[in-house]
Amino acid sequence: MDPAIPFEAISAQAISIGASLVGVAHVATLVDAPSHRVHPVDRRVGEAGSVVVIALAHTDGEPEMDWWDNQKGRTPGNRLLLKINRRLTKWLEKTCSVEAYELPYHALRGGIFLKDAAVLAGMGVIGKNNLLITPQYGPRVRLKALWLNLPLQCTGPTHGFAPCDGCDGPCIKACPRDAFNGGSYHRERCRLQMRTDETEKVVLKSPLIGVPSRFITAYCRRCELACPVGQ
Ligand code: SF4
Ligand code: SF4
Repeated sequence: MDPAIPFEAISAQAISIGASLVGVAHVATLVDAPSHRVHPVDRRVGEAGSVVVIALAHTDGEPEMDWWDNQKGRTPGNRLLLKINRRLTKWLEKTCSVEAYELPYHALRGGIFLKDAAVLAGMGVIGKNNLLITPQYGPRVRLKALWLNLPLQCTGPTHGFAPCDGCDGPCIKACPRDAFNGGSYHRERCRLQMRTDETEKVVLKSPLIGVPSRFITAYCRRCELACPVGQ
């Protein structure tokens, strides 16, 4: 680890500006992850560097964090994550003179597979519901990452955390599309539900006379919200 930038300092800064969890993975390890062997990491993400993964809790009590509106950033939760990432990037550049840049969300557009990075960073494991399960919040987190041109000490993977062992899978039973049929995740079945959610928008009526109602998309989260971990 670069003694000038201990992970604890980065983590403390990220938490102070709103992150719920923070971890670090080495790019060299990430490029070896199965999904990145199929979709290689963008060449600009130097292999000698590190990826700082930020998680933001989207708890059951704040469903609006996940509502898709027609505004920039798509959801209030994502706008908050973008803000945290940008502030952390600036802090790293200013305080630590480190080259840092935000990684796009989509792995196929120059980003990385965030769940893989979070697992390598020790923030949790992939559950039967195909989501990252964190000890603190279960699957109720959203992720972002930024790349640093420094080989920081990796914070994972985690050991001894196996929440799905012995769990009878309420996440799987909750799925309205049977998307985990046969023990693996069928993305196309989940997509059918997404199309339905997009068609059946939620109407948010304004309490003010003359102010028009808003229409948002509340995508299915049943497999996420049914998980008892981190409740
Ligand atoms: S509900 Fe149980 S099986 Fe499903 S992800 Fe959570 S711990 Fe794993
Ligand atoms: S989001 Fe909904 S439809 Fe998709 S896998 Fe989870 S429970 Fe099934």
